[in-house]
Amino acid sequence: VFDVLVVGGGPAGAAAAIYAARKGIRTGVLAERFGGQVLDTLSIENFISVKETEGPKFALALEQHVKEYDVDVMNTQRASKLAQVGKVVEIHTASGAVLKAKSVILATGARWREINVPGEKEYRNHGVAYCPHCDGPLFKGKRVAVIGGGNSGVEAAIDLAGLVKHVTLIEFGAELRADAVLQRKLRSLPNVTVIASAQTTEIHGDGKIVNGLSYTDRNTSVSHKVELEGVFVQIGLVPNTEWLKGTLALSRHGEIEVDARGQTSLPGVFAAGDVTTVPYKQIIIATGEGAKAALSAFDHLIRSDDA
Ligand code: FAD
Repeated sequence: VFDVLVVGGGPAGAAAAIYAARKGIRTGVLAERFGGQVLDTLSIENFISVKETEGPKFALALEQHVKEYDVDVMNTQRASKLAQVGKVVEIHTASGAVLKAKSVILATGARWREINVPGEKEYRNHGVAYCPHCDGPLFKGKRVAVIGGGNSGVEAAIDLAGLVKHVTLIEFGAELRADAVLQRKLRSLPNVTVIASAQTTEIHGDGKIVNGLSYTDRNTSVSHKVELEGVFVQIGLVPNTEWLKGTLALSRHGEIEVDARGQTSLPGVFAAGDVTTVPYKQIIIATGEGAKAALSAFDHLIRSDDA
């Protein structure tokens, strides 16, 4: 039986594992893909104290740091079910194993919803981006599009308008869905064009980097092309909680609800990082939350009678 079993091997899971192991308690990490989203990231420039690094390098550093400690790392294993049996939490894996723990930290992260048009995959990290806080500065003085007119898309467009030369906001529906106050702010900006009823059909590039985007006007069916250097896809961040539905409290977006200590609605079960309701999905936030969840799990263990 693990004292702390961490599910997820991204920045949040790695930080949780290190903090737990440093307490000298039996710690395990179960991860489908150790490293998490940073494996798909090119350059990271906002992990404070590390001026510049690359995603795969950062992921390797996470793994090396975890391996400095006595942590049982189970990589390429997917959790498929969580069950509470008395005071023990069971994690069932897709391969049929059942792991038991006195406390569990859920850190399964999230994934950006893709628009699935030609060019999106080809130019990912070469003009196609998903995170304005991360990649906005790379497009300083350039022209970009933001796809998606919900709160995150409109916030991204406002944010980017202060950095880039011009922003084209593309919304599929007839109207933007963002809060009115955000829409007002957006429309007050001189370097933003809003195009509604537009279906993005292709992201173009020169073989190396993005140079344009095509969309179809859904009212007239006429196709248009916009020349630009960057495309931010903002049609939703999906938390990896499908396997947890019905077992603990999730927000209406599917994020695990946590309190200020990372406690979920189930005793002994904590959560951290992009998978939770904690706002702003960033590496530095995920690592901090992971550390916090581990300290909360430790606190839970020393307060329970059988620990
Ligand atoms: P994740 O990194 O998503 O890790 C989740 C972990 O859980 C993975 O190991 C995954 O395999 C595992 N997992 C998922 N489901 C299961 C399951 N059922 N069973 C077992 N394991 C499971 N942030 C920055 O701060 N700066 C940046 O420059 C930056 N750039 C980014 C660029 C890109 C392209 C992307 C996609 C994200 C970027 N981010 C950046 C965001 C950052 O990567 C995330 O905020 C961070 O990785 C979240 O960490 P996490 O540990 O919560 O989740």
